[in-house]
Amino acid sequence: MKMSHMMNIYARLPVAFSHGNGSRICDTDGRVYLDALSGIAVNTLGHNHPALVAAISAQAARLLHTSNIYRMPQQEQLADKLAELSGMDEVFFCNSGCEANEAAIKLARFYGHQRGVDNPAIIVMEHSFHGRTLATLSATGSRKVQAGFEPLVAGFVRVPFNDLEAVRAIGERNKNVVAVMFEVIQGEGGVHVADKDYQWGLRRLCDENAWLMICDEVQCGMGRTGTWFGFQQAGIRPEVVTLAKGLAGGVPIGACLAAGRAAQLFRPGNHGSTFGGNQLATTAALTTLDVIEKENLLANAVEVGQVILGGFRQALADVPGVIGIRGMGLMIGIELDRPCGDLAQRGLDAGLLINVTAERVVRLLPALNFSADEGRELVERLSTLIRAFLSS
Ligand SMILES: *Cc1c(COP(=O)(O)O)cnc(C)c1O
Repeated sequence: MKMSHMMNIYARLPVAFSHGNGSRICDTDGRVYLDALSGIAVNTLGHNHPALVAAISAQAARLLHTSNIYRMPQQEQLADKLAELSGMDEVFFCNSGCEANEAAIKLARFYGHQRGVDNPAIIVMEHSFHGRTLATLSATGSRKVQAGFEPLVAGFVRVPFNDLEAVRAIGERNKNVVAVMFEVIQGEGGVHVADKDYQWGLRRLCDENAWLMICDEVQCGMGRTGTWFGFQQAGIRPEVVTLAKGLAGGVPIGACLAAGRAAQLFRPGNHGSTFGGNQLATTAALTTLDVIEKENLLANAVEVGQVILGGFRQALADVPGVIGIRGMGLMIGIELDRPCGDLAQRGLDAGLLINVTAERVVRLLPALNFSADEGRELVERLSTLIRAFLSS
């Protein structure tokens, strides 16, 4: 494959796909794969869902885009729907996860300035991932993402994940803190789940100090954990929630939701986006949400998630080299005792789309309509691969 004019940014696997159906996807040579990654948690409804295809096609035949200079009924409807599902008050639309987080970071700084904090700081976590723009890579807890792009954006203070005392200590020392930003389940960082006690502890600290709680739900939101949003698992209510990846089932979109003291801060001119929330993207998102409801996919995520998690715990129970099997709903990680990036290629060779993150964690992010049978098939085929890899 000739790629001479492509900027050399991705370590791509040597395959291209031509079409898909549900969680089966076909490459350009006609080989069929079981897709347990869904475009990194993007293809919420799998490939080629008829309702999504129909809605996008119909919308494309009417209008794709008019800009945010004008009203868009679909966008207003989607904001209402997201507010209803999340308990948040208002929504800003953009096109990606990093943009949603940029909006959240700007909102937190704006909030700080309004409270007379001239140098607002945001507490962020080790092993977090928030994106690759300058502000979001600065918020990200990975030197690999930051290296070579210094100077970093100032105003972030990092603490270990799941360590409430560290957050409390920073808060006592640093009066510039205005917000805490975290993922309920760290995705890129290796599928690490925030303890419920920890989330409640953060909630308390945010209340005591009038900080904003910012939940980056770009990966773990949109029903992936079995509730609409990851924070609903613990029953907390953040002031800011960011979404992207799976929100429109494959069409680019991002959203920053605000509530309580984070709501009604921005005024016209403070922020914006040319494409954000256009007719095509918001129609796709409305349809995605509608299908999740109609096809009962939150319950499916719980049920099939248990099939997969339980299946791997059984299949890999006595396998030396398997350090941990964890996750929630359809966001699952299998940590090995050694780097295992090679497993993505081995999966491909075996007709399986999987991913490896944080070097040693096999990450699974199947579509929310992955069936229990597909779950059992995944467990059987992937545990065979993992066993073979660990003994090679
Ligand atoms: C993927 C991801 C992002 C970045 O999203 P982009 O759309 O690639 O900018 C941010 N936060 C989390 C938690 C993510 O998983």
